[in-house]
Amino acid sequence: MSAQMWDVVVVGGGPAGLSGALMLGRARRRVLVIDAGEPRNRFTDAMHAVLGRDGTSPAQLLADGRAEVESYGGVIRHATVSTVEHITDGFSLTLDESGADPDAEGTVLARRLLVATGSSDDLPDIPGLGDLWGRGVATCPYCDAYEVKDARIGILATGPASVMQAQLLRQWSESIIYVTHTSAAPVGEEAAGFAARGIQVAVGPVECVLAEDSRLVGVQLDGGRRIELDAIFTIPTLAPADRTLRSLGAAIVENPVGAFVQVDATGRTSIDGVWAAGNVVNPAANVPISIGAGALAGGAINHDLVLDDIARVLARSAQ
Ligand SMILES: Cc1cc2nc3c(=O)[nH]c(=O)nc-3n(C[C@H](O)[C@H](O)[C@H](O)COP(=O)(O)OP(=O)(O)OC[C@H]3O[C@@H](n4cnc5c(N)ncnc54)[C@H](O)[C@@H]3O)c2cc1C
Repeated sequence: MSAQMWDVVVVGGGPAGLSGALMLGRARRRVLVIDAGEPRNRFTDAMHAVLGRDGTSPAQLLADGRAEVESYGGVIRHATVSTVEHITDGFSLTLDESGADPDAEGTVLARRLLVATGSSDDLPDIPGLGDLWGRGVATCPYCDAYEVKDARIGILATGPASVMQAQLLRQWSESIIYVTHTSAAPVGEEAAGFAARGIQVAVGPVECVLAEDSRLVGVQLDGGRRIELDAIFTIPTLAPADRTLRSLGAAIVENPVGAFVQVDATGRTSIDGVWAAGNVVNPAANVPISIGAGALAGGAINHDLVLDDIARVLARSAQ
């Protein structure tokens, strides 16, 4: 085997990728993590609902995770994987040199791949909204609603799922206002459900999000009406960073929020030797779920490598 052939290359060094790398490093596998350094929650200062690390900054969690991976011999490089190809007994990955360390340029080879490249959030195109993403504008009630309990919470509707998001947020505050923006106003059972729980509705497109000293203070509707708010929850379009998986021909499955690469319970894709974990394949994954999925995939990859190690020795001894 070539000296540059890693047992596993992990693409993406967020919670899922680092967790997989930790399992593999502890299993004494040669593991390389290639990370572009843009985790999905980089816009916020504190994570919540992460047992044992509640309130920790995402950057601190990843710094601690990288140190743990490195303590078992794992190597972490700051770079972007631009292409992945099949080669005999594994994969060849090309790294994008832009913005990377000089030693991260070039090509790396791997027997197995764990893709944990996460996803990004496409927010509605409203002036001021993106500036407050993770700092007053949020999507996940379980991550961010407790911090604004009893406050004035706006739901910026983006589609049918926003109705349930408003009902969920009502668990944290009596002051919920559903802003229709470009969606239809609730009717029938949905309108009755809102009335039953005191959820107000403001009809009309949002012209801009209002801030003072970088703090959210409300929204302005088309026509000039202003609504004072302490927080906005909205459901962006989730865009999985699955280009490398698709380029290898991974099978895709449709779910209610879009098309995602199909994996089994351990994260194994339809491509031999390729696993995927975290938000790249699971839109519902938060930090703990991503950590768990990475750990499962790491264990499954090691198991698969053990079977491959046995087969290689048997093939050699049969020669
Ligand atoms: C504003 C906000 C707040 C959140 N708050 C919470 C919270 O409080 N609690 C919680 O549990 N969850 C929270 N989440 C969700 C959480 O961010 C994700 O569930 C979690 O980050 C998913 O982990 P991951 O490892 O799958 O992906 P990510 O954390 O997104 O990591 C993926 C990594 O892969 C890298 N990458 C992508 N493509 C490539 C490539 N081609 N080559 C190399 N590297 C690549 C990225 O740069 C990134 O570093 C929040 C999300 C958002 C948007």
